[in-house]
Amino acid sequence: MTAAPRPDSIAAETAYILARLGVPAAAFAEGAITVRSPISGEVIGRVAEAPAAEMSAAVGRAHAAYLAWRKVPAPKRGELVRLFGEELRAHKTDLGRLVTLEVGKIVSEGLGEVQEMIDICDFAVGLSRQLYGLTIATERPSHRMMETWHPVGVVGIISAFNFPVAVWSWNAALALVAGDACVWKPSEKTPLTALATQALFEAAAKKAGAPEGLSQLVIGGRAAGEALVDDPRVPVVSATGSTAMGRQVGPRVAARFGRSILELGGNNAGIVCPSADLDLVVRGVAFAAMGTAGQRCTTLRRLFVHDSVYDALVPRLKKAYGSVKVGDPREAGVLVGPLIDIRSFEAMQSALDRARAAGGTVHGGERARDDLGADARYVRPALVEMPTQAEIVCHETFAPILYVMRWSSFEDVLALHNGVPQGLSSSIFTRDLGEAERFLSVEGSDCGIANVNIGPSGAEIGGAFGGEKETGGGRESGSDAWKAYMRRATNTINYGRDLPLAQGVTFDVE
Ligand code: NAD
Repeated sequence: MTAAPRPDSIAAETAYILARLGVPAAAFAEGAITVRSPISGEVIGRVAEAPAAEMSAAVGRAHAAYLAWRKVPAPKRGELVRLFGEELRAHKTDLGRLVTLEVGKIVSEGLGEVQEMIDICDFAVGLSRQLYGLTIATERPSHRMMETWHPVGVVGIISAFNFPVAVWSWNAALALVAGDACVWKPSEKTPLTALATQALFEAAAKKAGAPEGLSQLVIGGRAAGEALVDDPRVPVVSATGSTAMGRQVGPRVAARFGRSILELGGNNAGIVCPSADLDLVVRGVAFAAMGTAGQRCTTLRRLFVHDSVYDALVPRLKKAYGSVKVGDPREAGVLVGPLIDIRSFEAMQSALDRARAAGGTVHGGERARDDLGADARYVRPALVEMPTQAEIVCHETFAPILYVMRWSSFEDVLALHNGVPQGLSSSIFTRDLGEAERFLSVEGSDCGIANVNIGPSGAEIGGAFGGEKETGGGRESGSDAWKAYMRRATNTINYGRDLPLAQGVTFDVE
């Protein structure tokens, strides 16, 4: 049997892919959430918002599944995640394409997002055989002290539009091997990729014989997110999105003594030093600042260029900005796709006006490719030469705007670098070991990610991911981020016949 040809329209192709991924047509045929492809602005699905009571019911189902799942040995839990990774491998092309259609990422970035999901599955499978606790020296004779890590319960996952499926998988893969169940509230802008991911997960769960209801998907907006945040049966809430969202979520979770993993906005910078390899800088800056149309939390937004190389570097950057191909992300050669929606375009234009008012010189930033759809918004990425780090530069505008500033003193540029409320990612371009090491030292970058001779974006899953200050302080993904999805018990065991007390305390009763 030959496969049906891929349809031409974006809506028809979306429906075709969703069917291939096992999502029933009824799931995106009608409902209050209208999904538009940013590529053309056309409607590609209508999805029902879950009724108000659904979040509580979903948490209940997840909790029931957790009670069984926590007793399954961790390496066996890893087998579920391994099977899910196999589903992702088998369907990488379709799911990556769906990311492109729903979010507007260029093809290699859509596929890269799914590869990131596969990578975290591999990581989590290995981790399922390595969850460990310490044995600690005790002052009491014939005693042993150790720590044990237990699953924590139901983990709530709230995700943002710009990594519609990878962010969920960073959390879910770790939570599942840790022995937790999950409830996912995806961005209301990206329910289709969430439905597809859930269908792939269900297929893996069936093969693995996992308890029913182990990973729940609840589609809705802020109200659904709030219901998840407030549910006392959810001990950990991992929330990815804007700092404004984190300001709401953090205190609400804390008010009921839950734990939150906050992954919020960034305002990432690069410092270009006199010794920097400028060829490398141009390439590194181009990807970090213009990639994903500036819609990554780690997008390079501020570039500090040393006086001695400013006139050599900035014209080259302007040239790259002027020549980068903006357009339909499905087309070969296009590097900058659309913004997610019209509101995002308006926020970008307003930021550029504020930058001009603060003395900035704006290159680019105008609407591009208005032939691709009245409701689609493409822009030429903006490079803005700023005389100072004005107030607007201290804000995260989720669009391709790069503010470029001069520096001459290393002390001053470090202060400017850290002089914003956010603390996600950072980079320095230098061949000077002293500068590189100072940037990575305690006096240097105050961010959760600090790089040398690469831009601030494009992290690998092996490292812990997250940032400080208004970025929220959470860590996900690699290293020991798994600990946030578990609870720790310290155990002391007395294998002797006496009962010595710690700190020399005596308490002898007759
Ligand atoms: P957003 O804050 O508008 O929405 C994110 C999610 O939070 C959505 O699912 C939304 O429904 C939900 N939400 C909003 N208010 C809520 C509330 N009061 N309670 C519960 N849930 C609520 O963000 P966005 O526009 O989708 O994404 C872009 C933002 O996300 C940028 O600021 C970007 O930097 C950030 N981001 C951060 C990371 C990171 O790891 N640090 C990764 C990706 C995106």
